[in-house]
Amino acid sequence: MEEDKKQNHNERMQRKKEVVDAAIDRAQEERGIVILITGNGKGKSTSAFGTLYRALGHGQRTGVVQFIKGTQATGEVIFLQQHPASAAVRYHAMATGFTWNTQNWDADKRAADEAWAQAAGMLADPALSLVVLDELTYMLKYNYLDTAMVIEAIRARPPMQTVIVTGRAAKPELVELADTVSEIADRKHAFKAGVKAQAGIDF
Ligand code: ATP
Ligand code: MG
Repeated sequence: MEEDKKQNHNERMQRKKEVVDAAIDRAQEERGIVILITGNGKGKSTSAFGTLYRALGHGQRTGVVQFIKGTQATGEVIFLQQHPASAAVRYHAMATGFTWNTQNWDADKRAADEAWAQAAGMLADPALSLVVLDELTYMLKYNYLDTAMVIEAIRARPPMQTVIVTGRAAKPELVELADTVSEIADRKHAFKAGVKAQAGIDF
């Protein structure tokens, strides 16, 4: 690169650094937050589990409730169950309940209520730094759980606890409550081109 271009680049980076440093100085509050990962693209649950492993790496205690039972246990859950760090994880998966395969309101509702009771216990436990409520959005969308009740329990959690909610079609109340909202767009998905779901990638 020519000398004047290098000089320009360095000056530009210096200005960028000043802006970033000022933003870092401004952010001084320490508290738990609500993270919502929504949208139709792939990467919501894996992102939530990535953050869970991040917290475990720092020796924190965590909780997970999975509100939809897949036909296959996901790799991240199998890994956790085999790992010594699982001692630091409270875990509940919805027993039967809502999948695209069952159309049984009473059974689904019972399972949703049970899963919610577990979630509510975690949201009241100050020992948990992070609580993941995976696919919770569907419980609200299909009215298995009362939105106001869920919002209130998340709001009333211990001040240092962070909550991650995943799932498509998040209600506006959840978006409003969340401090960080990431919407993953579905630009492409291999499944739509005929690629079969794969262990280690899709579950
Ligand atoms: P992941 O668990 O891989 O992070 P996700 O949580 O964003 O995905 P879900 O809606 O919970 O997405 O669906 C999980 C499963 O559906 C995964 O096997 C994933 O590969 C697949 N999937 C996710 N998004 C899409 C999509 N846009 N089209 C087709 N399949 C998808
Ligand atoms: Mg998911």
